[in-house]
Amino acid sequence: MNDNDLPKTLHPETLALHAGWRADLITGSVVPPIHQTTSYQFADSDQAAKRFSLQEAGPIYTRLGNPTIDVLEQRLAALEGGVAAVAVSSGQAASAMAVQTIAQAGDNIVSSTDIYGGTWNLFTHTLRNMGIDVRFVDPSDPQAFLKASDERTRGWYLEMLPNPKLVVPPLAEIASLGRTHNIPLIVDNTAAPLIAKPLEHGAAIVIYSTTKYIGGHGTSIGGIIIDSGTFDWDKTPKRHPLLTTPDPSYHGLIWSEAAKKFGPIAYALRLRAVLLRDLGAALSPFNAFQLIQGVETLPLRMERHCENAALIAHYLKRHKAVSKVIYPALHKGETFKRAQTYFNGRYGGLVGFELSNGVEGGKRFIDSLRLLYHVANIGDARSLAIHPASTTHSQLTPTEQKAAGVSPGYVRLSVGLEHPDDIIADLEQALAQSQKA
Ligand code: PLP
Repeated sequence: MNDNDLPKTLHPETLALHAGWRADLITGSVVPPIHQTTSYQFADSDQAAKRFSLQEAGPIYTRLGNPTIDVLEQRLAALEGGVAAVAVSSGQAASAMAVQTIAQAGDNIVSSTDIYGGTWNLFTHTLRNMGIDVRFVDPSDPQAFLKASDERTRGWYLEMLPNPKLVVPPLAEIASLGRTHNIPLIVDNTAAPLIAKPLEHGAAIVIYSTTKYIGGHGTSIGGIIIDSGTFDWDKTPKRHPLLTTPDPSYHGLIWSEAAKKFGPIAYALRLRAVLLRDLGAALSPFNAFQLIQGVETLPLRMERHCENAALIAHYLKRHKAVSKVIYPALHKGETFKRAQTYFNGRYGGLVGFELSNGVEGGKRFIDSLRLLYHVANIGDARSLAIHPASTTHSQLTPTEQKAAGVSPGYVRLSVGLEHPDDIIADLEQALAQSQKA
């Protein structure tokens, strides 16, 4: 009983606990079991043939789908307001496959410059080596996406709350401009689950590294791609040949046609049936189980992450060792207005700040932390810190670091769920140490 047909009007707190699963039909198990199996016994040869030819939905082989993973997919699709989701082995796999579902050698996508470093590498080197060109533009300018596009542009890509700048892009304008040219917008919403709802503002596809807030406990790497079902791939079929022309790898099937039986899920169907089949970046059922446990408390956790981050941002703003605080609610003018427009009154769990005494101060601060972890991650239940100039961005030139928003004394915090007084006490003593010559 995987689909319990919940009303679409349920709140996120409820969907996080109930969407996609009620109880096991045989055992009554309330928690979705871990289906740690590679394959599934077919009832008979007719059923096997129907599943392979996509006339019937149902499990075939865990690389293509699995009942535990299915619960995670349904739950996150429901929370995001999408029609289907495909879970994959990592956030990196999610961004790569989100693009590869619609773009092949000779095609291109246009991407925001403000993206995670791993995505930057993927786009700048690996996708280009595979023949998919990625053109980078300033995300604050919707027209820049259009100017960089041509008839081989298959999608636009941006991050909703990119760090270190934590500047929210004008998503609705970009998405709507894209739609007028039948170009779908893919949004990486990893840093803002539940806080921002990109599909409500016109995005076609949302992806997550579920490694971060979705899992929340730092136990499991994973990724997910969610299909809004609102994008009309057939409107200008030449724009999306991978979805609208016969696929020789699937005996000439046209994905936009084949999907009609299941709903507006052409994108998700090709992603699963071709990309997961061929590239094999499947999530493990055990990780899916862990991530489901995370999703159950996601709404509560996000509230606390955001509350704590707001307190920390305001504490840092008053501190004399801190020359600048980077936090969506502390941006000015248009940038602040965008954060207000796209966020639900909460501003995420990430806070950046600049120490007046540069690289040395940043390193001393990090080395003095006792409670906060010094790790290259975000979205954990624990508070985390990193000094990008000496770690994640150390290979960049000073000019490149500046363009990326990384000053020598910049420190990124991923504020966790500890009591805020305890986080502040640790920051206080580390800030004092950072000032010692
Ligand atoms: N997208 C963003 C915004 C990220 O921060 C990360 C990882 O830090 C990724 C994607 C990649 O996710 P993963 O580490 O799960 O491959």
